[in-house]
Parts: sequence; C-alpha cells; structure tokens
Amino acid sequence: MKLIGHTIFENTPIEITFESNRVQSIQKVASATNNTWIAPALIDIQVNGFSGFDLNVVTVTAADVCAMVRSLWQVGTGFLCPTVVTASNEDTITSLSAIVNACKEDKAIDRSILGIHLEGPYISAEDGPRGAHPLGHVREPDWDEFQRWQDIAEGMIRIVTLAPEKNGAIPFIEKLVTNGIVVALGHTDASVEDIHNAVSAGAKLSTHLGNGAHALIQRHPNYIWEQLAADELWASLIVDGHHLPPAVVKSMMRAKTLDRCILISDATALAGMPAGTYQFAGQSVELTTDKCVRLTGTEYLAGSAIELARGVENSVRFVGISLADAVSLATRNPARLLGLEEKVDTFTESSTTDLIIFEWDDATCEIDLIATILDGQLVYNS
Ligand SMILES: [Zn+2]
Repeated sequence: MKLIGHTIFENTPIEITFESNRVQSIQKVASATNNTWIAPALIDIQVNGFSGFDLNVVTVTAADVCAMVRSLWQVGTGFLCPTVVTASNEDTITSLSAIVNACKEDKAIDRSILGIHLEGPYISAEDGPRGAHPLGHVREPDWDEFQRWQDIAEGMIRIVTLAPEKNGAIPFIEKLVTNGIVVALGHTDASVEDIHNAVSAGAKLSTHLGNGAHALIQRHPNYIWEQLAADELWASLIVDGHHLPPAVVKSMMRAKTLDRCILISDATALAGMPAGTYQFAGQSVELTTDKCVRLTGTEYLAGSAIELARGVENSVRFVGISLADAVSLATRNPARLLGLEEKVDTFTESSTTDLIIFEWDDATCEIDLIATILDGQLVYNS
C-alpha cells in the first residue's frame, strides 16, 4: 500500500510505502495533487475517558485503560496524559494503579501514555470553580499524600492541576516544580496575588482556561484576565464550541498567542459514543449530535465529549488560523510543554514514525482521518 500527501508544517509532498501494516519508507516525491495531509499523531494532555471507558470509576482496570487508549488511536490521538480527578484516597489509588499496570502489560500503551495528569483534589471547594469535582474529596495540598500517589504511579504523574489559593499551595508548587512536574492552575478562585505567587513558584499552565470558573465574576480584575496576561503561563482550551464561545476562543488565542495555547479534549467516557441519554457519574445526561453533554433537561454542561481532532477543526473555524497552526496546537505545543519536541519534529523517520494521515475539506473545515501510525505501525486505517 502507498499513500501520498503533504507534510503539514513544511508542505512537502511525500509518499509513504507500507508492507504488512508497517511503514517501509517515507520519501519525497515531485508533487501531490490531493488535499491529503500528513501530521504528527495528536497529543491530548487531558483525557478522563473515551468510548465508554472511564478512568475515574472504582471498577477501572488496566484492560479498560488499554481499550481506551486504542480507541483514541482510531480518532487520531496517538499520545495522551490520562487524567485522574478529585476522589477519595482509595479511588485515586485504583485509577493510578490501573494506568501503571496498563503500561506494564502493553508496551504500545506505555509508549502512548506520556504521563498522568492529576487534576485535583487540591482545588477550590466553591461551586463554579470546583466544576463537577466532588466537594467531599476536595482538600488542602498534602505533600505526603502526593508522594504516596507518585510512588504508586511509579513516577508517572507529570502534570498536577491545582488552585494556588489553597493553604500551603505555593510551597507545594515549588516542590512539584523541583520534582520536574508541570504545575497547572485550574478549578481556582485565585486572587491576582495568588496567581502572581504561583507563577513565581514555577506554575506553567492554565488548565481549561475560562472553564471550571464562576458563572458570574467581577469584570476586572479577575482570575481569567490575570492568567490570560501572564506570559509565563500556557493555556489549555476546550474548543468544542460549547465550553467556550467562538469569540472567547479567538480572543484567548490572540492574547496568549498561538505559541502558548494547547488544545485538549478533556473527554469523558461519553466521547466517541452515539447521541442519546446516558447515566454518567450518577446523573442522567444528554449527549447531542454536536457533541454537547448536558444534565438532562437543563443547560448545564456535564463534561466534554469531543475528539481532539474536532478541536483542531474548530480552531480553524473560530479563529481563522491555518490548518498547520491549528494542528500545531495539538502536537508541537503540548510536546514542547512536556519537553518532548522530538516526538513531533522527527515524525517522518520511517521506522519509528508517529503520524496521522487525513483529508482536509477547506469548505467545511473537516478532518477525515485516513490512517494513524504509531512506532511505524499502522494502528488505524479507514
Ligand atoms: Zn477540569
């Protein structure tokens, strides 16, 4: 089998040759007339679940984690940070253990998991900033507890989202940074000073900026403007068309610049499922055909259900940026945040390549995935 397309960043026409579902060669060719693009496999630094699999249920197993990761490959996400949210100590350990065991059992899964994202439990207890995190398990930063979790995770916790206004949060951030962990601010009711202190302590990211926030806040100053203006902070954004209005996405990307924005799906188990009514986290929710999850009969969002590739499409639609720039927000930028630039800069190295091939429709701004290749192996083919 042969596939021809243009590399997304250099716009170079190349031909990929396969034998027994492995990449044999990647070569430059004189020209390619199609609208097929070849890009690094997408990287999603915030995934709670997908395709019916939920990382944050007491029953989660290593097999569930493997199945979830494999279903993400089918939609172009090659790498991820599985995300463990606020829960009891026991349930946190269950989720961490399932992820660690999945990595031990399956080398390909291990290669896809770039690290664990711990979102909570050291977050705001307030309605609004807390989002859907259970109040009963929200708590103050506790270094001993965190270290126990990091031991169980065998050092895999790589991102921690917390609220910098919590008691002891600033020295806690300093210790995380010393230990090489990316500190993200999120689910927070921080004052301007809290944000300044967190940035000075080494915080690097704002998690889903503009969400996990009060419905009503003082117009200025507030924690959204302050994080938006902090050049030291990258921003992750849920660009599903529901969590942030298009104008907010556009304004945030312009303010942060494309160099410091990262697309995330923040997907729950409902992502990748057909529209309908589901029982989710103990509540009845509706999943619409345009990937919006609401508490049944209300306007309240109850999680995200997009695939990361939809965020790439929406970024082109909402912000008017090029396809290459939008792809960069879900490949080069998260790789840079995690110090893994080589993952996306050497994607045309045939034996170890990690890439996606897709058709792009200029008129509808739609990605039609043709193939996902990880470690030189075809893992999805339409
Ligand atoms: Zn969140």
